[in-house]
Amino acid sequence: MSSGKTLGEVLRDQGVSRRGFLKFCTAMASMMALPPGSVAAVAAALEKARRPSVIWLSFQECTGCTESLTRSHTPTLEGLILGQVSLDYHHTLQAASGTAAEHARMQAMKENHGKYLVVVDGSLPLGNPGYSTIAGISNVEMLKETVEGAAAVIAVGSCAAFGGIPMAQPNPTGAVSVSQIVKDRPVVNVPGCPPIPVVITGVLAHFLTFGGLPELDELGRPLAFYGDTIHDRCYRRPFYDQGLFAESFDDEGARKGWCLFKVGCKGPVTHNACATTKWNDGTSFPIESGHGCLGCSEPNFWDAGSFYKPLSAPTGTINQVAAGAALGGVAAGAAVAWHNRKIRGEARAKHEPVTLDDLEKSS
Ligand code: SF4
Ligand code: SF4
Repeated sequence: MSSGKTLGEVLRDQGVSRRGFLKFCTAMASMMALPPGSVAAVAAALEKARRPSVIWLSFQECTGCTESLTRSHTPTLEGLILGQVSLDYHHTLQAASGTAAEHARMQAMKENHGKYLVVVDGSLPLGNPGYSTIAGISNVEMLKETVEGAAAVIAVGSCAAFGGIPMAQPNPTGAVSVSQIVKDRPVVNVPGCPPIPVVITGVLAHFLTFGGLPELDELGRPLAFYGDTIHDRCYRRPFYDQGLFAESFDDEGARKGWCLFKVGCKGPVTHNACATTKWNDGTSFPIESGHGCLGCSEPNFWDAGSFYKPLSAPTGTINQVAAGAALGGVAAGAAVAWHNRKIRGEARAKHEPVTLDDLEKSS
């Protein structure tokens, strides 16, 4: 349970030195995509911050999102649980079970009313409450009951954020996302299948540091991590701009590391931080391993057609679109990217969500 101590006190109790604390703050500032000059402000805020109680609910999911959290390298999972937050309920990670586990959830809600965070992975079945239950309670009822006194809800993974794989056609359970159920509490979407662990902890770190939620895009995703497309930050982008594409996974272009657009990469329409934060302790990300982006942090990615089908060319001829973008002579891919940015910009101005499907339909 939340001890009431400040984070500074907790870390000192754990024997963390001032130098270690500043190192921790630097990692947190980096996770929140803040400039290096903000480390002192982060340190001052964290010194006084009280650990929020976190209740983690898992519904129709595969445990991949929790697996991702356990790969969180900065800070470590132990640091996350013991230092930054009080993780009071988590089916997979808690020692308690049965009645004791449910008691822990109720106690955390009562003691931290109005202040605790609810993290959800997995979608919710509306087709029949009996499709997924925990302790005899349907997922929908448990979510409604638990968010009642929450400060905010974080929907982790594409299942919780957008319905994900359980919602893929024919959607046998009538799966819906968290934001389709929770209407009276702020909901932050952290999509990805699974989401990048540093992004999960980055959102928690932001709440801890500033006592509030980060700035969100039109789909409820934190802009610091989802503001750019994979394509915007991809190291293969120079090949794309020159029109140098792999045509198959074993041709010369693939061996030379050229752009994967023509073998189905969805990077131009996918917002996420894979190209910058990378995975496995910053080792790599799918495109660096030779496979195109699947678009897993966008709504309906599973139903958006083959992972290996290239995105369609935009409306009009490539030359017309390229001319519109004042990019005469550039590759078809650059024109597609410009076209998609234009669509997103227009939708943002109107506060409308844009899906991968919308972008393909306009082609
Ligand atoms: S988003 Fe992906 S990894 Fe997370 S629970 Fe759903 S299917 Fe599993
Ligand atoms: S299409 Fe894919 S591989 Fe090519 S530059 Fe864009 S994100 Fe990178």
